[in-house]
Amino acid sequence: MAGGVATRKAKPAKRRAKERASRAKVAAGNPLLAPWTTPFEVPPFDRVRDEQFLPALDHAFAAHVAEIEAIATQRASPTFENTIAALERAGCSLDRIADVFDNLAATDTNETIQAIEREIAPRFAKHGMRIYQDGKLFRRVDALMQDKTGLGLSEEQSRVLERHHRSFVRAGAALDAKARKRLAAIAQRLASLGTKFDQNVLADEQDFVLVLDTESDLAGLPEAVRAAAAQTAAERGSKGKHAVTLSRSSIEPFLQFSSRRDLREQAYTAWRQRGANGGKTDNRKIVAEILKLRAERARLLGFKTSADAALEFSMAKTPANVRKLLMKVWTPARARARQERADLQEAVRTEGGNFEVAGWDWRYYAEKVRKARFDVDEAEVKPYLQLDGVIAAAFDCANKLFGVSFKERKDLPVYHPEVRSFEVTGADGRHVGLFISDYFARASKRSGAWCSRFRAQHKLDAQEVRPIVVNVMNFAKGAPGAPALLSIDDARTLFHEFGHALHALLSDVTYLSVSGTRVERDFVELPSQLYEHWIQHPQVLRKFARHYKTGKPLPEALLNKIKAARNFNQGFATVEYVAAAIVDLDLHALADNGGLDADAFEQETLGRIGAPAEIGMRHRIPHFQHIIGVYASAYYSYMWSEVMDADAFKAFEEAGNIFDPAIARRLHDHIYSAGGKRDPADAYKAFRGRLPTPEALLQKRGLAPGGTSA
Ligand SMILES: [Zn+2]
Repeated sequence: MAGGVATRKAKPAKRRAKERASRAKVAAGNPLLAPWTTPFEVPPFDRVRDEQFLPALDHAFAAHVAEIEAIATQRASPTFENTIAALERAGCSLDRIADVFDNLAATDTNETIQAIEREIAPRFAKHGMRIYQDGKLFRRVDALMQDKTGLGLSEEQSRVLERHHRSFVRAGAALDAKARKRLAAIAQRLASLGTKFDQNVLADEQDFVLVLDTESDLAGLPEAVRAAAAQTAAERGSKGKHAVTLSRSSIEPFLQFSSRRDLREQAYTAWRQRGANGGKTDNRKIVAEILKLRAERARLLGFKTSADAALEFSMAKTPANVRKLLMKVWTPARARARQERADLQEAVRTEGGNFEVAGWDWRYYAEKVRKARFDVDEAEVKPYLQLDGVIAAAFDCANKLFGVSFKERKDLPVYHPEVRSFEVTGADGRHVGLFISDYFARASKRSGAWCSRFRAQHKLDAQEVRPIVVNVMNFAKGAPGAPALLSIDDARTLFHEFGHALHALLSDVTYLSVSGTRVERDFVELPSQLYEHWIQHPQVLRKFARHYKTGKPLPEALLNKIKAARNFNQGFATVEYVAAAIVDLDLHALADNGGLDADAFEQETLGRIGAPAEIGMRHRIPHFQHIIGVYASAYYSYMWSEVMDADAFKAFEEAGNIFDPAIARRLHDHIYSAGGKRDPADAYKAFRGRLPTPEALLQKRGLAPGGTSA
């Protein structure tokens, strides 16, 4: 068994009680438990110390349990207000502390935080089970559910009730004691395994640095990539040298430009092997156990497989519907990828190379073909995409669409010096929320890009609570004195996460469990992916893409070339994504996956669908963090949402105005501010007047019959 979690012995009860008592003492004066008197009640990051989390959590767990018991044991017969709304209000101290902790654990971790994470993950699972397996409480919720239509609930209340009821059913509240006990044990074990999985990926990422020692190691790298690599080396203690890490913003430009095939192979192999390096950080056995437990849980709950269980409450509804969409895209994408590969192989031959295109060659030769065919050089575009310019563009588009303004606040506490805070206000000057950004890669940060929150919007009480939202990315910093420069992909990522942020910030609902981004998993990527469309539009690029030295706008000729090259390499991008989505779905569609061999499973699945070896999956199983967390059986969600985002942006294009006020209004009312208060299909129809078909997506990716070929 990899890692120490499984074999750690339980502490004797006496020692544990003593520890709790001493924690209680520490809790006095603990800023995590005191009221937050900061502006907007932003977490007092400057006063929180790592060792304060456990005692604060002890208090918060106990407080939540007491609140829950009061709801469960009250004399009054169940009403929506005294049971469901009361459940929504309970546990706010716990949520507040957990949000601070989870964000720190993901963005600026250390050994202390990692140890706390390993301790509390199973405790959270146990706590959740204690609540959702509570028989008395379930009987109250179930009585309301049985009488749902007679309660006179609003659509939002009705969905909130359904969500709570589902949480109880999914915890096994309706099952016998033996099944409940087993489900509780599974939940705790899964929580421990998930934490270990994530920590292992981070460990493998921290472990690898490719130091570029000599000028020949830098061959092919343009100025901006060199500057970023110099900055990375300085941060890793190799000042005066250059370095590449496994952060996407570091390794992708390297693979794209480095003419050193041997170094590309080295970096690419390390990237692909994260979580599969043998030894203490190997994730393959962990994944096998996770899947086995999930399958068992699904069976206990009466589902055939865990994919069936996961999809019951989604727009897609069934694995068969997901597979239908994925295969509809897969076939033309693979055909396109084959053409692309032939072009790359031709480029290798032209150069006098005598080898077959491998995984570590694709990005490099794709860049050459792109340059030859469209005369677009990523290195030529980058100096126009300063980080601050792209942030300004994101703010400006939000202003034009939704009337919100952003003002930086330097007086608020932050958890890291690179973090920035912005107050968001509405057209009427009303406070909308707080937007926090944390854009640069560092060794203490998880890889990838995501949107998270420190507080969600709700109107449970007289005083409305407005959200605090954070966007986290892993961009490479610029050279000292020079701004950080983004690739088009980076800029799109920034807009993507900012779209999620808007979804949380603009939220206008009453109940917490449908607030902001708390929508069906395959609907949640609609606001984020839709927002990406604006940064790719010439109107926005013309205004905000300015050369960091000269201040000159992106030349019109370059802009046209970018536009023409938009569908370039989409075969590759679609294949690497869909391959990963199919592997995710197949992994969770196994009725019995005892003894899963992750490597063999990948090979077998990719072979069956005829995936090209030199493309591979966007995330291999041993570091596929999406499917360890909430995207399990749901990695397809990006594509499901893309069906809608492609169709939704068309509405603006058809109107001839990408900021059309009437369409923007509908988008705000039915999508960005509506959280999960409506059925997603109904919400989409209210916005667009109809549901979309996959054709818009195929067109967008240039994969439709007769679509533009790159
Ligand atoms: Zn997203």
